[in-house]
Amino acid sequence: MQIPRYVRVNTVRTSTEEVIAWFTENGFKLRRKRSIVDSIQMASGTFCVDEHIPNVLVFPAGTDLHDNILYKEGKIILQDKASCFPAFVLNPPAGSDVMDACAAPGNKTSHLAAIMDNKGQIFAFDISEKRISTMKKLLHRAGEKIVEAKHQDFLKTDPRDPVYTNVQYILVDPSCSGSGMINRLDYVTSDIDNMDAKEKQRVYSLARFQVKVLSHALSFPNVKKAVYSTCSLHNIENEEVIVKCLEKFHEKFELKKALPDWPHRGHAVFPQASNCVRASPKEGSTSGFFLALFEARNSTGTVEV
Ligand code: SAM
Repeated sequence: MQIPRYVRVNTVRTSTEEVIAWFTENGFKLRRKRSIVDSIQMASGTFCVDEHIPNVLVFPAGTDLHDNILYKEGKIILQDKASCFPAFVLNPPAGSDVMDACAAPGNKTSHLAAIMDNKGQIFAFDISEKRISTMKKLLHRAGEKIVEAKHQDFLKTDPRDPVYTNVQYILVDPSCSGSGMINRLDYVTSDIDNMDAKEKQRVYSLARFQVKVLSHALSFPNVKKAVYSTCSLHNIENEEVIVKCLEKFHEKFELKKALPDWPHRGHAVFPQASNCVRASPKEGSTSGFFLALFEARNSTGTVEV
């Protein structure tokens, strides 16, 4: 199974216009029609601008840009389109305080910093020292200066810690089964009933962890917007996590319709499921992905201290 090669322009280092100019000067042909986005139809050596996410370019499947100078200079990030949804939907303004609960290797953190115009503060947590170190390298190459990378269990952060008082935006992209990852789609069953007992147990255990992480994020007192995402195909890690957290937090948060123009929506396992986003190779030419957006009910744009 193949999907296009997506490229996010790192607007901290350059602009989409400059990157388009570089590719056209170096033998690539810019196409303007959406119909060619399908990886099978896209001719080699062509590219186009993505129609949903700003600063994302689309190249034919299999285009290898790992040796490209723009990539080496941190001007472009090789990031799947669906993986660009969370920061785009969270959309924290420049100058805000943001938490990225499970951040490494840092693609979404880097996207957040770009959206914030490299102004403000991002607390980026990860429990893995190795992945934090990879993230630091990625953020350095990308020129991002507002990220405090914290090798720390997000579940041990204290929502009453004054350091986090001004945090109004939280991204929650926890460990998941990865069943939507493109290199696994051909052989991993997305049907929980067909899984062997060990894998089923793993998915249920991940789902319990995901509920904990999202609940913890929603416990920070001044959160205005929180985005939850996974690259899993399973309802248990997606819609069912949202149901459990809404049960606990419905007085404080509502589930908003994310990416309203995106046609592929959450599975109808609860009444507001269509507010959630689904994506997959068949549903949007991306890897398998899920996203939900929570907004505080009393969201006034001011911090209640
Ligand atoms: N958001 C990342 C990105 O876009 O590059 C990908 C995150 S990956 C899906 C999940 C991450 O959660 C892993 O790096 C893992 O080490 C981290 N993690 C797992 N448990 C954690 C915890 N309790 N606190 C913080 N990070 C955790």
